[in-house]
Amino acid sequence: MTSEDNVWRELARIPADPPDTRDKCQQCRRPVQVCWCPGLPKQRLNPASRIIILQHPAEAKRCLRTVPMLALALESGKCLIFRGKKFPLPKHEGLAEILNDKNTILLYPSPGAVALDTLDPVGINEQKAYNLVLLDGTWPQAKAIYHSSPALYFLRACKLIGVPTSEYVIRTQPTEGCLSTLETGASALSILEGDPELREKMLGPLHYLCRFQLENGAVTHQSKEFLIKQKAYPKLIGKRLAKQLRILPDSTS
Ligand SMILES: [Zn+2]
Repeated sequence: MTSEDNVWRELARIPADPPDTRDKCQQCRRPVQVCWCPGLPKQRLNPASRIIILQHPAEAKRCLRTVPMLALALESGKCLIFRGKKFPLPKHEGLAEILNDKNTILLYPSPGAVALDTLDPVGINEQKAYNLVLLDGTWPQAKAIYHSSPALYFLRACKLIGVPTSEYVIRTQPTEGCLSTLETGASALSILEGDPELREKMLGPLHYLCRFQLENGAVTHQSKEFLIKQKAYPKLIGKRLAKQLRILPDSTS
């Protein structure tokens, strides 16, 4: 066999499709090596209530995001996503009606917010299915959305109390108790539906992803608050800020 034969043989092995489409999972759109679809529930879940996500445009571009996990775990129509910096705009079809519905609640820690578990679960005292509105973005982005969207001020505001620290170990959380949108949605929906198993089923892709990343050498990220308390964080934030944070009463205790 000539060396020319070898060259042709090598060329024949190159696939025709460009690598980026070839290597992406058709469902979650992530590279197949880091696809989390095997963690999804075997059948899409069909709770009575719906999750309505108001997503900051910058959030959609982040590489590690959890909203697609939420959307793919639920039946279509049970997770609606609207993108923008304020809501509702004319392009947000159907959202104005949802925000006017008396069964729509907002998960946001405004001063009047009540603990979510004080609400009647669906079916108790004739409670109808909820529309649970979540703001998706970093904390400053979520605050900005809230303040630019007066329609949200009129919703019943609720907060999650006593929820476990984030299981999303891969992405460093800004403070203890800060949850990914998936964890927030799963915990809240589970409470509203009165179905504790719902949460675990919905978190499947997150567990799968974390297990995979840890097995493949990713470092477990503790929250920044934890690292500051352990004095492991100063190098990352600069000595002066670290010193200021350490003299705060709750981080020296
Ligand atoms: Zn996938």
